[in-house]
Amino acid sequence: MSEIKLLDPLENVANGIQKRFLNHLSRMGIKTVKDLLWHFPVRYQDRSEISNISGLKEGEEATIYGIVQSVNTRRIPTRKLTLTEVQIADDEGKVMNLTFFNQSYVANALTPGKSANFSGKVKEYKGKQTLQSPIYEFTKARGKEKETQHTGRLVPIYGETRGLTSRGIRYIIKPLLDNLEKLPEYIPAKILKDLGLPDINVAIQDIHFPKTQKDALKALESFAFRDLFLLQLRNAEEKQRLREEQAHQITYTDKELKEILSYLPFELTASQKKSLDEILQDIKMGHPMNRLLQGDVGSGKTIIAGIGALLTVRRGYQSAFMAPTEILARQHFKTLIKFFEEYDGGIALLISKEARVFYGDGLESTVKKSELIKKIRTGKVGIVIGTHALIQKNVVFKNLAFAVVDEQHRFGVGQRANLAGSEKILPHFLSMSATPIPRTLTMTIFGNLDLSLINELPKGRKSIITKIVDAKNRNKAYDFIREQIKSDRQVFVICPRIEDPEEQVETTSRQKSAWAVKAVKVEHEKLSKEIFPEFNVVMLHGKLKTEEKTKAMRAFAEGRADVLVSTSVVEVGVDIPNATIMMIEGADRFGLAQLYQFRGRVGRGEHQSYCLLFTDSKSTQTHERLKSLVTAKNGFELAEMDLKLRGPGEFLGQTQTGMPDLALKALQNPELLKTAEEKTKDLLKEDPQFKNSPLLEKKLAQFKREIHLE
Ligand code: ADP
Ligand code: MG
Repeated sequence: MSEIKLLDPLENVANGIQKRFLNHLSRMGIKTVKDLLWHFPVRYQDRSEISNISGLKEGEEATIYGIVQSVNTRRIPTRKLTLTEVQIADDEGKVMNLTFFNQSYVANALTPGKSANFSGKVKEYKGKQTLQSPIYEFTKARGKEKETQHTGRLVPIYGETRGLTSRGIRYIIKPLLDNLEKLPEYIPAKILKDLGLPDINVAIQDIHFPKTQKDALKALESFAFRDLFLLQLRNAEEKQRLREEQAHQITYTDKELKEILSYLPFELTASQKKSLDEILQDIKMGHPMNRLLQGDVGSGKTIIAGIGALLTVRRGYQSAFMAPTEILARQHFKTLIKFFEEYDGGIALLISKEARVFYGDGLESTVKKSELIKKIRTGKVGIVIGTHALIQKNVVFKNLAFAVVDEQHRFGVGQRANLAGSEKILPHFLSMSATPIPRTLTMTIFGNLDLSLINELPKGRKSIITKIVDAKNRNKAYDFIREQIKSDRQVFVICPRIEDPEEQVETTSRQKSAWAVKAVKVEHEKLSKEIFPEFNVVMLHGKLKTEEKTKAMRAFAEGRADVLVSTSVVEVGVDIPNATIMMIEGADRFGLAQLYQFRGRVGRGEHQSYCLLFTDSKSTQTHERLKSLVTAKNGFELAEMDLKLRGPGEFLGQTQTGMPDLALKALQNPELLKTAEEKTKDLLKEDPQFKNSPLLEKKLAQFKREIHLE
């Protein structure tokens, strides 16, 4: 094989690999040599010890080096299968039989005289010890592990999906590694030396075919460190870059702020005040704010962002609010015109099919979308609230100075850049998130942002009673719900998607949402016809037309509908104070953080509220997990638990952060994180321009593109 380049497409280099196999890989997003080499093993199986036949114990995994003595294939009619028995002899001359069922082709390969390693489980067959369908690999002599990939060594095991076995992956990877070009090392040698981590060329060999567990661990640590280091550098660099950019200075007087606060029907909580103060301090400066406002559901983030937006428009600039769903955009619109009804500079709503404006006259009116877009361009509206409709090319702000994005990690991080358009003066940027994220994660993944935290709920909120309901108590729960509805309360029912048993391997998000829709339809049918025929049950899911969604949502918001059956679209933000029951079907299918967010939809009014977690699962582990929703003190505690249970990749969803999986995993290793932080600081102090490490600079640029933050 000639030298393999990292960016070679697999099909160019993979001689003798079946097309089918390549297609499978391609479907997993593995298209180049690099993609495949960076598809790391999930664990290693120790087949390094070669046993003698005489010492084998029933039930153990063993590898035996032996020479084939005889082969015999016969049919066993009673069991409708063929049995191939291969007799081998080891170095001590002991013999044993290997049995292969319905694998008569092995007889062609394992001819007498051939020597190989055989790995498998020791079992009894007809009173004699045997290895059943062992993996075998030809090798000239015992212990020549350099030649082997599957046996006689630490063997990498990869995450397997249908049609792709670890053996298959090893078979492709080994020759690629043996002929791989020398990779440029972008981490300064001194850092690797300090940390005792291997060079990238060693690391990539060792992560797949390590000699010892320790080598494997070092290799893994080295890759995790690489990602964390790049992440920290990216954060530091972005912060620095923003300090050099310009933004409009938004000033205000204490009197003005007091006046605005006096419009509100409540007093801000202490942490709302603190967060507001941090935001207002930032936007006074001539450099763009880049801040994350984190707070539990119902903690009152909207109004804090709203005050920033209002002060901005009072100075003659524009503000924008982006929400991940139309429902939320509408809700923010309503909230802001309610709180800021005195403001007559124009508050607008822009979503895909609708545009509305409000001018402080107590009336909101529908306008043509093109008309609103013109008003935005000419500065005839101050605050514009919308979905991603706001970042379409044709929407150009006259002088946007303050941009708020709600639940940004659902929005797609890169898109926010589009808001700023081509302006030289950047808007101040405030990202809001109700997702409770553990601190380590926040500081790394969102380490480019400054952090404000609202860590308390407004006074007078009752805590929500959470119960796990198993199958036999379902009817009791329905009775309870019926009572609540009779006292005029309302109920959310959340359905997880129905798993399609045929398609467990790779599913597109489109399929997933299709199944969620199916689940909602089924549940809606059941509840409206069988369980609660006397009540008004409506449904909400992604496949409904905008008008239908609005209609259902409005009926529920205005109290005309008693039960809202929904997919997880109500996950964020929706505010219905009269809803007192959050019922979640198949609760075990959701993550804790997500369940926590669902629960936050109730308990927003004066009434005692309940969260009913339905599950058919019998696993105690599942029940323990769900129980933590009952016991946890706050969202952050749950988030920590969720993180430990599921790991950060699952926890955040890789698509949401765009982060490399490994870096996410590494966040569970606080020491490595700290090391990466220190090394970042040192490097930026000693060589902020990357004069001595041009390769690192190049790699950093590439990394930023890969994680979609640019
Ligand atoms: P979230 O942080 O989840 O976005 P919201 O901004 O939707 O929360 O606020 C939840 C509800 O609490 C809203 O109805 C809002 O008007 C109300 N609210 C906000 N701040 C306070 C406060 N300090 N006291 C009482 N109610 C408040
Ligand atoms: Mg909100």
